Amino acid sequence: MFRRKKALKTEDTHIKQLADIVGPKEVLFHKEDLISYESDGFTIHSHMPKAVVFPKNTEEVAAVVKYCADHDLPFLARGAGTGLSGGAIPLNGEVIISLVKMKRLLHVDLENRQAVVEPGYVNLKLTHSISDKGYYYAPDPSSQYCCTIGGNVAENAGGAHCLKYGVTTNHILGLEVVTPAGDIIEIGREGIADVPGYDLLGLITGSEGTLGIVTKITVRILKNPEEKQTVLAYFDRVEDGSRAVSDIVSRGIVPAALEMMDKIAIEGVEAAAFPVGHPKDIEALLLIEVDGISAGIEEQIDDILDVCKKRNVRSVKVAQDEKERAKWWANRKTGFGAMGAISPDYLVQDGVIPRSTLPQVLQKINEVSQETGLRIANIFHAGDGNLHPLILFDARVPGETEKALEAGSKCLQACADAGGSITGEHGVGIEKREEMRFVFTDQEIQAQTDVREVFNPHYLLNAGKLFPSSGRCAEIKAEQKKAASE
Ligand SMILES: Cc1cc2nc3c(=O)[nH]c(=O)nc-3n(C[C@H](O)[C@H](O)[C@H](O)COP(=O)(O)OP(=O)(O)OC[C@H]3O[C@@H](n4cnc5c(N)ncnc54)[C@H](O)[C@@H]3O)c2cc1C
Repeated sequence: MFRRKKALKTEDTHIKQLADIVGPKEVLFHKEDLISYESDGFTIHSHMPKAVVFPKNTEEVAAVVKYCADHDLPFLARGAGTGLSGGAIPLNGEVIISLVKMKRLLHVDLENRQAVVEPGYVNLKLTHSISDKGYYYAPDPSSQYCCTIGGNVAENAGGAHCLKYGVTTNHILGLEVVTPAGDIIEIGREGIADVPGYDLLGLITGSEGTLGIVTKITVRILKNPEEKQTVLAYFDRVEDGSRAVSDIVSRGIVPAALEMMDKIAIEGVEAAAFPVGHPKDIEALLLIEVDGISAGIEEQIDDILDVCKKRNVRSVKVAQDEKERAKWWANRKTGFGAMGAISPDYLVQDGVIPRSTLPQVLQKINEVSQETGLRIANIFHAGDGNLHPLILFDARVPGETEKALEAGSKCLQACADAGGSITGEHGVGIEKREEMRFVFTDQEIQAQTDVREVFNPHYLLNAGKLFPSSGRCAEIKAEQKKAASE
Protein backbone atom coordinates (compact mmCIF):
# COMPACT_ATOMS: atom_id res chain seq x y z
CA MET A 1 0.00 0.00 0.00
CA PHE A 2 2.81 2.34 1.01
CA ARG A 3 4.72 1.57 -2.21
CA ARG A 4 1.63 2.13 -4.37
CA LYS A 5 1.12 5.58 -2.85
CA LYS A 6 4.77 6.53 -3.46
CA ALA A 7 4.67 5.25 -7.04
CA LEU A 8 1.72 7.41 -7.92
CA LYS A 9 3.35 10.52 -6.49
CA THR A 10 5.64 11.48 -9.31
CA GLU A 11 5.62 14.07 -12.03
CA ASP A 12 8.09 12.07 -14.10
CA THR A 13 6.27 10.95 -17.24
CA HIS A 14 8.69 8.13 -17.94
CA ILE A 15 8.18 6.63 -14.48
CA LYS A 16 4.40 6.86 -14.91
CA GLN A 17 4.58 5.14 -18.30
CA LEU A 18 6.84 2.41 -16.96
CA ALA A 19 4.43 1.92 -14.05
CA ASP A 20 1.61 1.55 -16.58
CA ILE A 21 3.51 -1.34 -18.17
CA VAL A 22 4.62 -3.31 -15.10
CA GLY A 23 2.22 -2.00 -12.47
CA PRO A 24 2.88 0.77 -9.92
CA LYS A 25 4.16 -1.64 -7.26
CA GLU A 26 6.85 -2.89 -9.60
CA VAL A 27 8.76 0.38 -10.09
CA LEU A 28 11.32 1.89 -7.73
CA PHE A 29 12.37 5.49 -8.30
CA HIS A 30 12.97 7.11 -4.90
CA LYS A 31 16.60 7.66 -4.04
CA GLU A 32 16.43 5.59 -0.86
CA ASP A 33 15.03 2.63 -2.84
CA LEU A 34 17.62 2.95 -5.61
CA ILE A 35 20.73 2.93 -3.42
CA SER A 36 21.00 -0.88 -3.39
CA TYR A 37 21.07 -0.84 -7.19
CA GLU A 38 23.97 1.62 -7.51
CA SER A 39 26.48 -1.18 -7.66
CA ASP A 40 26.92 -4.94 -7.95
CA GLY A 41 29.71 -7.21 -6.64
CA PHE A 42 32.28 -4.74 -8.03
CA THR A 43 31.64 -2.32 -5.21
CA ILE A 44 34.53 0.02 -6.01
CA HIS A 45 32.28 1.70 -8.58
CA SER A 46 28.71 2.97 -8.22
CA HIS A 47 26.16 5.09 -10.06
CA MET A 48 22.48 5.87 -9.47
CA PRO A 49 19.92 4.32 -11.85
CA LYS A 50 16.94 6.32 -13.04
CA ALA A 51 14.54 3.61 -11.88
CA VAL A 52 14.28 -0.12 -11.30
CA VAL A 53 11.41 -2.07 -12.86
CA PHE A 54 10.37 -5.64 -12.04
CA PRO A 55 8.60 -7.21 -15.06
CA LYS A 56 6.75 -10.47 -14.45
CA ASN A 57 6.88 -11.92 -17.96
CA THR A 58 8.55 -11.61 -21.36
CA GLU A 59 5.84 -9.34 -22.78
CA GLU A 60 6.42 -6.82 -20.00
CA VAL A 61 10.20 -6.96 -20.56
CA ALA A 62 9.63 -6.32 -24.28
CA ALA A 63 7.23 -3.44 -23.58
CA VAL A 64 9.68 -1.78 -21.15
CA VAL A 65 12.53 -2.17 -23.64
CA LYS A 66 10.40 -0.75 -26.46
CA TYR A 67 9.44 2.20 -24.30
CA CYS A 68 13.09 2.89 -23.43
CA ALA A 69 14.18 2.51 -27.06
CA ASP A 70 11.43 4.86 -28.30
CA HIS A 71 12.31 7.49 -25.69
CA ASP A 72 16.09 7.27 -25.85
CA LEU A 73 16.35 6.02 -22.27
CA PRO A 74 19.41 3.90 -21.45
CA PHE A 75 18.55 0.54 -19.85
CA LEU A 76 20.15 -2.68 -18.64
CA ALA A 77 19.25 -6.10 -17.24
CA ARG A 78 20.02 -7.20 -13.71
CA GLY A 79 19.83 -10.59 -12.02
CA ALA A 80 21.03 -11.02 -8.44
CA GLY A 81 23.71 -8.33 -8.76
CA THR A 82 26.56 -10.66 -7.76
CA GLY A 83 28.61 -9.86 -10.88
CA LEU A 84 32.21 -9.02 -10.00
CA SER A 85 33.16 -6.86 -12.97
CA GLY A 86 30.52 -4.12 -12.74
CA GLY A 87 28.27 -5.35 -15.57
CA ALA A 88 25.04 -4.35 -13.79
CA ILE A 89 26.23 -0.91 -12.66
CA PRO A 90 24.05 1.80 -14.26
CA LEU A 91 26.90 3.97 -15.55
CA ASN A 92 24.53 6.17 -17.57
CA GLY A 93 21.65 6.40 -15.10
CA GLU A 94 19.91 3.46 -16.77
CA VAL A 95 16.45 2.09 -16.16
CA ILE A 96 17.35 -1.23 -14.53
CA ILE A 97 15.20 -4.14 -15.68
CA SER A 98 15.40 -6.55 -12.77
CA LEU A 99 14.57 -10.15 -13.69
CA VAL A 100 14.24 -11.42 -10.12
CA LYS A 101 10.46 -11.78 -10.32
CA MET A 102 10.75 -14.02 -13.38
CA LYS A 103 11.97 -16.95 -11.29
CA ARG A 104 9.96 -20.01 -12.27
CA LEU A 105 11.15 -23.45 -13.25
CA LEU A 106 8.91 -23.85 -16.32
CA HIS A 107 9.54 -27.40 -17.46
CA VAL A 108 11.69 -30.45 -16.75
CA ASP A 109 12.13 -33.00 -19.54
CA LEU A 110 14.12 -35.95 -18.19
CA GLU A 111 13.76 -37.91 -21.42
CA ASN A 112 15.67 -35.25 -23.33
CA ARG A 113 17.73 -34.23 -20.29
CA GLN A 114 16.76 -30.60 -20.31
CA ALA A 115 14.93 -28.01 -18.24
CA VAL A 116 13.44 -24.62 -19.05
CA VAL A 117 13.77 -21.77 -16.56
CA GLU A 118 13.01 -18.08 -16.35
CA PRO A 119 16.11 -15.84 -16.09
CA GLY A 120 15.67 -14.96 -12.42
CA TYR A 121 15.74 -18.63 -11.36
CA VAL A 122 18.57 -19.13 -8.86
CA ASN A 123 21.29 -21.51 -10.07
CA LEU A 124 21.39 -23.90 -7.09
CA LYS A 125 17.59 -24.23 -6.98
CA LEU A 126 17.70 -26.12 -10.24
CA THR A 127 19.89 -28.88 -8.83
CA HIS A 128 17.79 -28.93 -5.66
CA SER A 129 14.60 -29.28 -7.73
CA ILE A 130 15.79 -32.28 -9.77
CA SER A 131 18.19 -34.09 -7.43
CA ASP A 132 15.48 -36.44 -6.12
CA LYS A 133 15.09 -37.66 -9.70
CA GLY A 134 18.84 -38.31 -9.91
CA TYR A 135 19.76 -35.25 -11.99
CA TYR A 136 21.71 -31.98 -11.52
CA TYR A 137 22.75 -28.80 -13.32
CA ALA A 138 26.54 -28.77 -13.71
CA PRO A 139 27.75 -25.11 -13.84
CA ASP A 140 28.34 -24.27 -10.18
CA PRO A 141 29.67 -20.73 -9.58
CA SER A 142 30.57 -20.28 -5.92
CA SER A 143 27.74 -17.71 -5.80
CA GLN A 144 25.25 -20.36 -6.95
CA TYR A 145 23.12 -20.11 -3.82
CA CYS A 146 21.94 -16.67 -4.99
CA CYS A 147 23.06 -15.80 -8.56
CA THR A 148 20.54 -16.23 -11.38
CA ILE A 149 20.77 -18.44 -14.44
CA GLY A 150 20.07 -15.34 -16.59
CA GLY A 151 23.15 -13.67 -15.06
CA ASN A 152 25.12 -16.91 -15.59
CA VAL A 153 24.21 -16.88 -19.29
CA ALA A 154 25.23 -13.23 -19.63
CA GLU A 155 28.60 -13.86 -17.95
CA ASN A 156 29.13 -17.40 -19.26
CA ALA A 157 29.70 -18.33 -15.64
CA GLY A 158 32.06 -21.09 -14.60
CA GLY A 159 32.63 -22.86 -11.31
CA ALA A 160 34.67 -25.47 -9.49
CA HIS A 161 33.13 -28.38 -11.39
CA CYS A 162 33.48 -26.80 -14.84
CA LEU A 163 36.90 -28.40 -15.38
CA LYS A 164 35.32 -31.69 -16.42
CA TYR A 165 31.84 -30.56 -17.42
CA GLY A 166 32.40 -27.21 -19.16
CA VAL A 167 31.13 -23.70 -18.41
CA THR A 168 27.63 -22.28 -18.89
CA THR A 169 27.83 -22.09 -22.67
CA ASN A 170 28.26 -25.88 -22.81
CA HIS A 171 24.93 -26.34 -21.03
CA ILE A 172 22.67 -23.87 -22.86
CA LEU A 173 20.36 -25.39 -25.49
CA GLY A 174 17.99 -22.54 -26.23
CA LEU A 175 17.22 -18.95 -25.30
CA GLU A 176 14.36 -16.53 -25.61
CA VAL A 177 15.75 -13.01 -25.94
CA VAL A 178 14.26 -9.52 -26.05
CA THR A 179 16.35 -7.52 -28.50
CA PRO A 180 17.34 -3.90 -27.77
CA ALA A 181 14.52 -2.85 -30.13
CA GLY A 182 11.96 -4.73 -28.01
CA ASP A 183 11.42 -7.73 -30.33
CA ILE A 184 11.14 -11.24 -28.89
CA ILE A 185 13.30 -13.86 -30.60
CA GLU A 186 13.97 -17.58 -30.02
CA ILE A 187 17.51 -18.88 -30.40
CA GLY A 188 18.39 -22.57 -30.57
CA ARG A 189 15.78 -25.30 -30.53
CA GLU A 190 14.83 -27.43 -27.56
CA GLY A 191 16.08 -30.98 -27.99
CA ILE A 192 17.84 -30.26 -31.31
CA ALA A 193 21.63 -30.60 -31.32
CA ASP A 194 22.35 -28.07 -34.06
CA VAL A 195 20.42 -25.44 -36.01
CA PRO A 196 21.33 -23.79 -39.30
CA GLY A 197 22.66 -20.25 -39.48
CA TYR A 198 24.98 -18.29 -37.22
CA ASP A 199 25.63 -19.59 -33.72
CA LEU A 200 23.66 -16.86 -31.94
CA LEU A 201 23.41 -19.04 -28.85
CA GLY A 202 27.19 -18.89 -28.51
CA LEU A 203 27.18 -15.17 -29.26
CA ILE A 204 24.57 -14.19 -26.68
CA THR A 205 26.06 -16.44 -24.00
CA GLY A 206 28.85 -14.40 -22.44
CA SER A 207 27.84 -11.14 -24.13
CA GLU A 208 27.47 -9.52 -20.71
CA GLY A 209 23.99 -8.14 -21.26
CA THR A 210 25.04 -5.95 -24.21
CA LEU A 211 23.14 -7.69 -27.03
CA GLY A 212 19.72 -8.43 -25.56
CA ILE A 213 17.79 -9.44 -22.45
CA VAL A 214 17.43 -13.16 -21.86
CA THR A 215 13.89 -14.05 -20.76
CA LYS A 216 13.80 -17.86 -21.00
CA ILE A 217 16.58 -20.46 -20.92
CA THR A 218 16.66 -24.13 -21.90
CA VAL A 219 19.52 -25.85 -20.11
CA ARG A 220 21.07 -29.28 -20.29
CA ILE A 221 20.75 -31.36 -17.11
CA LEU A 222 23.01 -34.28 -16.22
CA LYS A 223 22.53 -37.58 -14.44
CA ASN A 224 24.15 -37.67 -10.99
CA PRO A 225 27.50 -39.48 -11.08
CA GLU A 226 27.47 -42.94 -9.55
CA GLU A 227 30.33 -42.07 -7.21
CA LYS A 228 32.40 -39.10 -6.00
CA GLN A 229 35.65 -39.04 -4.05
CA THR A 230 37.35 -35.93 -2.73
CA VAL A 231 40.97 -35.44 -1.74
CA LEU A 232 42.55 -32.68 0.38
CA ALA A 233 46.32 -32.25 0.07
CA TYR A 234 48.61 -29.87 2.00
CA PHE A 235 51.91 -28.61 0.55
CA ASP A 236 54.87 -26.77 2.11
CA ARG A 237 55.75 -25.14 -1.21
CA VAL A 238 53.36 -23.47 -3.66
CA GLU A 239 55.49 -24.74 -6.50
CA ASP A 240 54.97 -28.38 -5.47
CA GLY A 241 51.20 -27.83 -5.32
CA SER A 242 51.24 -26.17 -8.77
CA ARG A 243 53.34 -28.95 -10.28
CA ALA A 244 50.98 -31.56 -8.81
CA VAL A 245 48.10 -29.92 -10.71
CA SER A 246 49.86 -30.38 -14.07
CA ASP A 247 51.00 -33.90 -13.15
CA ILE A 248 47.47 -35.04 -12.31
CA VAL A 249 46.13 -33.84 -15.65
CA SER A 250 49.07 -35.18 -17.61
CA ARG A 251 48.41 -38.65 -16.16
CA GLY A 252 45.16 -38.55 -18.13
CA ILE A 253 42.90 -37.94 -15.14
CA VAL A 254 40.21 -35.32 -15.66
CA PRO A 255 39.05 -34.45 -12.15
CA ALA A 256 35.56 -33.00 -11.75
CA ALA A 257 37.25 -30.22 -9.76
CA LEU A 258 40.86 -29.27 -8.99
CA GLU A 259 41.05 -26.23 -6.73
CA MET A 260 43.97 -24.52 -5.04
CA MET A 261 44.33 -22.03 -2.17
CA ASP A 262 47.53 -20.36 -0.98
CA LYS A 263 48.63 -19.40 2.52
CA ILE A 264 46.84 -16.03 2.75
CA ALA A 265 43.65 -17.55 1.37
CA ILE A 266 43.86 -20.31 3.98
CA GLU A 267 44.31 -17.67 6.70
CA GLY A 268 41.05 -16.08 5.44
CA VAL A 269 38.91 -19.21 5.19
CA GLU A 270 40.07 -20.42 8.59
CA ALA A 271 39.12 -17.07 10.17
CA ALA A 272 35.65 -17.08 8.58
CA ALA A 273 32.39 -18.98 8.97
CA PHE A 274 33.38 -22.46 7.70
CA PRO A 275 36.84 -23.36 9.09
CA VAL A 276 38.13 -26.87 8.44
CA GLY A 277 41.22 -26.79 10.63
CA HIS A 278 43.79 -26.49 7.82
CA PRO A 279 47.34 -26.12 9.19
CA LYS A 280 48.23 -22.41 9.25
CA ASP A 281 51.85 -22.92 8.23
CA ILE A 282 51.31 -24.67 4.87
CA GLU A 283 51.90 -22.68 1.68
CA ALA A 284 49.17 -24.29 -0.45
CA LEU A 285 46.35 -26.79 -0.46
CA LEU A 286 44.66 -28.67 -3.26
CA LEU A 287 41.03 -29.82 -3.20
CA ILE A 288 40.58 -32.51 -5.83
CA GLU A 289 37.37 -34.32 -6.73
CA VAL A 290 36.89 -37.22 -9.12
CA ASP A 291 33.51 -38.58 -10.12
CA GLY A 292 31.86 -40.95 -12.58
CA ILE A 293 30.99 -44.64 -12.65
CA SER A 294 32.32 -46.46 -9.59
CA ALA A 295 34.68 -48.70 -11.58
CA GLY A 296 37.96 -46.83 -11.95
CA ILE A 297 37.44 -44.21 -9.23
CA GLU A 298 39.76 -46.01 -6.77
CA GLU A 299 42.52 -46.19 -9.39
CA GLN A 300 42.21 -42.46 -10.04
CA ILE A 301 42.45 -41.72 -6.33
CA ASP A 302 45.54 -43.93 -6.05
CA ASP A 303 47.11 -42.07 -8.97
CA ILE A 304 46.33 -38.69 -7.37
CA LEU A 305 47.80 -39.77 -4.03
CA ASP A 306 50.90 -40.97 -5.85
CA VAL A 307 51.34 -37.63 -7.66
CA CYS A 308 50.94 -35.72 -4.39
CA LYS A 309 53.54 -37.94 -2.72
CA LYS A 310 56.00 -37.43 -5.57
CA ARG A 311 55.45 -33.67 -5.24
CA ASN A 312 56.42 -33.70 -1.54
CA VAL A 313 52.94 -33.39 -0.08
CA ARG A 314 53.04 -32.81 3.70
CA SER A 315 49.79 -34.71 4.25
CA VAL A 316 46.87 -35.86 2.17
CA LYS A 317 43.49 -37.38 3.00
CA VAL A 318 40.35 -38.65 1.26
CA ALA A 319 36.97 -37.44 2.57
CA GLN A 320 35.47 -40.19 4.72
CA ASP A 321 31.85 -39.29 4.10
CA GLU A 322 29.51 -36.73 2.53
CA LYS A 323 29.60 -34.60 5.69
CA GLU A 324 33.37 -34.18 5.51
CA ARG A 325 33.25 -33.52 1.76
CA ALA A 326 30.52 -30.86 2.22
CA LYS A 327 32.62 -29.19 4.96
CA TRP A 328 35.64 -28.91 2.67
CA TRP A 329 33.52 -27.49 -0.13
CA ALA A 330 31.75 -24.95 2.10
CA ASN A 331 35.20 -23.76 3.20
CA ARG A 332 36.34 -23.39 -0.43
CA LYS A 333 33.12 -21.98 -1.92
CA THR A 334 32.85 -19.17 0.62
CA GLY A 335 36.50 -18.28 0.06
CA PHE A 336 35.96 -14.84 -1.53
CA GLY A 337 33.69 -13.58 1.25
CA ALA A 338 36.09 -15.04 3.83
CA MET A 339 38.61 -12.35 2.90
CA GLY A 340 36.35 -9.97 4.82
CA ALA A 341 37.59 -11.72 7.99
CA ILE A 342 41.18 -10.62 7.39
CA SER A 343 40.88 -7.38 5.42
CA PRO A 344 38.49 -4.38 5.41
CA ASP A 345 38.23 -4.57 1.59
CA TYR A 346 39.27 -6.90 -1.21
CA LEU A 347 39.23 -6.88 -4.98
CA VAL A 348 38.59 -10.18 -6.80
CA GLN A 349 40.57 -10.64 -10.00
CA ASP A 350 39.95 -13.28 -12.62
CA GLY A 351 42.64 -14.24 -15.13
CA VAL A 352 43.30 -17.39 -17.15
CA ILE A 353 46.65 -18.97 -17.93
CA PRO A 354 47.96 -22.13 -19.54
CA ARG A 355 48.13 -24.60 -16.62
CA SER A 356 51.84 -25.25 -17.12
CA THR A 357 52.68 -21.57 -16.42
CA LEU A 358 51.08 -21.64 -12.96
CA PRO A 359 54.36 -21.48 -10.93
CA GLN A 360 55.79 -18.51 -12.85
CA VAL A 361 52.52 -16.54 -12.87
CA LEU A 362 52.07 -17.07 -9.12
CA GLN A 363 55.65 -15.80 -8.68
CA LYS A 364 54.77 -12.70 -10.75
CA ILE A 365 51.66 -12.08 -8.63
CA ASN A 366 53.88 -12.29 -5.56
CA GLU A 367 56.13 -9.60 -7.07
CA VAL A 368 53.07 -7.39 -7.72
CA SER A 369 52.19 -7.79 -4.04
CA GLN A 370 55.69 -6.74 -2.99
CA GLU A 371 55.75 -3.75 -5.40
CA THR A 372 52.39 -2.41 -4.23
CA GLY A 373 52.70 -3.40 -0.57
CA LEU A 374 49.26 -5.05 -0.72
CA ARG A 375 48.70 -8.65 0.38
CA ILE A 376 47.33 -10.86 -2.39
CA ALA A 377 45.56 -14.14 -1.62
CA ASN A 378 45.08 -16.74 -4.34
CA ILE A 379 42.03 -19.00 -4.56
CA PHE A 380 41.54 -20.60 -7.90
CA HIS A 381 40.28 -23.23 -10.27
CA ALA A 382 43.81 -24.58 -10.79
CA GLY A 383 42.77 -27.40 -13.10
CA ASP A 384 41.61 -25.07 -15.83
CA GLY A 385 44.17 -22.34 -15.10
CA ASN A 386 41.54 -19.86 -13.88
CA LEU A 387 43.25 -17.69 -11.26
CA HIS A 388 41.53 -15.50 -8.70
CA PRO A 389 44.08 -13.18 -7.08
CA LEU A 390 42.25 -11.47 -4.20
CA ILE A 391 43.86 -8.11 -3.53
CA LEU A 392 43.45 -7.06 0.09
CA PHE A 393 43.25 -3.34 0.81
CA ASP A 394 41.68 -0.69 3.00
CA ALA A 395 39.52 1.80 1.09
CA ARG A 396 39.70 4.18 4.05
CA VAL A 397 43.43 4.73 3.40
CA PRO A 398 43.78 7.44 0.74
CA GLY A 399 45.17 6.05 -2.50
CA GLU A 400 44.83 2.37 -1.54
CA THR A 401 41.81 1.68 -3.75
CA GLU A 402 43.72 2.99 -6.77
CA LYS A 403 46.71 0.89 -5.75
CA ALA A 404 44.47 -2.21 -5.55
CA LEU A 405 43.09 -1.53 -9.03
CA GLU A 406 46.62 -1.09 -10.36
CA ALA A 407 47.72 -4.34 -8.71
CA GLY A 408 44.70 -6.10 -10.29
CA SER A 409 45.64 -4.78 -13.71
CA LYS A 410 49.25 -5.94 -13.27
CA CYS A 411 48.08 -9.44 -12.32
CA LEU A 412 46.02 -9.55 -15.53
CA GLN A 413 49.02 -8.32 -17.53
CA ALA A 414 51.01 -11.25 -16.05
CA CYS A 415 48.26 -13.66 -17.19
CA ALA A 416 48.19 -12.16 -20.69
CA ASP A 417 52.01 -12.25 -20.91
CA ALA A 418 51.94 -15.95 -20.03
CA GLY A 419 49.72 -16.60 -23.06
CA GLY A 420 46.49 -16.43 -21.07
CA SER A 421 43.60 -14.02 -20.87
CA ILE A 422 42.03 -11.35 -18.66
CA THR A 423 38.89 -13.16 -17.59
CA GLY A 424 37.95 -16.78 -17.04
CA GLU A 425 34.41 -16.37 -15.78
CA HIS A 426 33.63 -13.00 -14.17
CA GLY A 427 33.46 -11.01 -17.40
CA VAL A 428 34.96 -7.69 -18.43
CA GLY A 429 32.16 -5.32 -17.38
CA ILE A 430 33.59 -1.91 -16.61
CA GLU A 431 36.43 -3.28 -14.54
CA LYS A 432 38.58 -4.75 -17.30
CA ARG A 433 37.56 -2.66 -20.31
CA GLU A 434 41.03 -1.21 -20.81
CA GLU A 435 42.72 -4.57 -20.14
CA MET A 436 40.96 -5.91 -23.26
CA ARG A 437 43.92 -4.29 -25.05
CA PHE A 438 46.24 -6.81 -23.36
CA VAL A 439 44.69 -9.57 -25.47
CA PHE A 440 43.10 -7.92 -28.54
CA THR A 441 44.38 -5.58 -31.25
CA ASP A 442 42.35 -2.46 -32.12
CA GLN A 443 41.03 -4.26 -35.20
CA GLU A 444 39.94 -7.29 -33.17
CA ILE A 445 38.11 -5.03 -30.72
CA GLN A 446 36.51 -3.24 -33.64
CA ALA A 447 35.25 -6.53 -35.10
CA GLN A 448 33.49 -7.21 -31.80
CA THR A 449 32.04 -3.72 -31.37
CA ASP A 450 30.70 -4.00 -34.94
CA VAL A 451 28.68 -7.02 -33.78
CA ARG A 452 27.35 -5.05 -30.84
CA GLU A 453 26.26 -2.27 -33.22
CA VAL A 454 24.15 -4.68 -35.25
CA PHE A 455 22.17 -5.71 -32.17
CA ASN A 456 22.40 -2.51 -30.17
CA PRO A 457 22.77 0.30 -32.77
CA HIS A 458 21.67 3.14 -30.53
CA TYR A 459 23.90 1.92 -27.75
CA LEU A 460 21.11 2.20 -25.19
CA LEU A 461 21.51 -1.31 -23.72
CA ASN A 462 24.26 -1.54 -21.11
CA ALA A 463 26.50 1.09 -22.73
CA GLY A 464 30.09 1.56 -21.62
CA LYS A 465 30.67 -2.12 -20.77
CA LEU A 466 32.92 -4.83 -22.14
CA PHE A 467 35.07 -2.78 -24.54
CA PRO A 468 37.67 -0.03 -24.08
CA SER A 469 36.31 3.52 -24.18
CA SER A 470 34.06 3.98 -27.17
CA GLY A 471 36.17 7.05 -27.93
CA ARG A 472 38.98 4.87 -29.20
CA CYS A 473 36.65 2.68 -31.23
CA ALA A 474 35.06 5.80 -32.69
CA GLU A 475 38.54 7.04 -33.58
CA ILE A 476 39.35 3.79 -35.38
CA LYS A 477 36.05 4.01 -37.25
CA ALA A 478 36.73 7.60 -38.30
CA GLU A 479 40.20 6.57 -39.52
CA GLN A 480 38.75 3.65 -41.48
CA LYS A 481 36.09 5.89 -43.05
CA LYS A 482 38.71 8.46 -44.00
CA ALA A 483 40.93 5.75 -45.52
CA ALA A 484 37.97 4.35 -47.48
CA SER A 485 37.07 7.74 -48.95
CA GLU A 486 40.66 8.49 -50.03
C1 LIG B 1 31.06 -14.68 -3.62
C2 LIG B 1 31.02 -14.75 -5.11
C3 LIG B 1 31.51 -15.87 -5.75
C4 LIG B 1 31.47 -15.94 -7.14
N1 LIG B 1 31.93 -17.07 -7.75
C5 LIG B 1 31.84 -17.20 -9.08
C6 LIG B 1 32.29 -18.39 -9.73
O1 LIG B 1 32.75 -19.35 -9.11
N2 LIG B 1 32.16 -18.45 -11.08
C7 LIG B 1 31.64 -17.42 -11.81
O2 LIG B 1 31.55 -17.53 -13.03
N3 LIG B 1 31.22 -16.29 -11.21
C8 LIG B 1 31.30 -16.15 -9.88
N4 LIG B 1 30.87 -14.99 -9.28
C9 LIG B 1 30.37 -13.88 -10.12
C10 LIG B 1 28.84 -13.85 -10.36
O3 LIG B 1 28.15 -14.52 -9.34
C11 LIG B 1 28.49 -14.43 -11.73
O4 LIG B 1 29.03 -13.60 -12.74
C12 LIG B 1 26.98 -14.59 -11.99
O5 LIG B 1 26.81 -15.22 -13.24
C13 LIG B 1 26.21 -13.27 -11.99
O6 LIG B 1 24.82 -13.56 -11.91
P1 LIG B 1 23.78 -12.46 -11.37
O7 LIG B 1 22.43 -13.04 -11.43
O8 LIG B 1 24.22 -11.97 -10.05
O9 LIG B 1 23.97 -11.33 -12.47
P2 LIG B 1 24.12 -9.75 -12.29
O10 LIG B 1 25.31 -9.44 -11.45
O11 LIG B 1 22.84 -9.17 -11.89
O12 LIG B 1 24.44 -9.32 -13.78
C14 LIG B 1 25.66 -9.67 -14.39
C15 LIG B 1 25.63 -9.23 -15.86
O13 LIG B 1 24.66 -9.99 -16.55
C16 LIG B 1 23.69 -9.15 -17.16
N5 LIG B 1 22.41 -9.83 -17.02
C17 LIG B 1 21.83 -10.28 -15.88
N6 LIG B 1 20.68 -10.92 -16.17
C18 LIG B 1 20.53 -10.86 -17.51
C19 LIG B 1 19.54 -11.32 -18.42
N7 LIG B 1 18.47 -12.00 -18.01
N8 LIG B 1 19.72 -11.06 -19.73
C20 LIG B 1 20.80 -10.41 -20.18
N9 LIG B 1 21.77 -9.94 -19.37
C21 LIG B 1 21.63 -10.17 -18.06
C22 LIG B 1 23.77 -7.82 -16.42
O14 LIG B 1 23.39 -6.75 -17.26
C23 LIG B 1 25.25 -7.78 -16.07
O15 LIG B 1 25.98 -7.29 -17.17
C24 LIG B 1 30.93 -14.88 -7.90
C25 LIG B 1 30.42 -13.76 -7.24
C26 LIG B 1 30.47 -13.68 -5.88
C27 LIG B 1 29.91 -12.45 -5.20
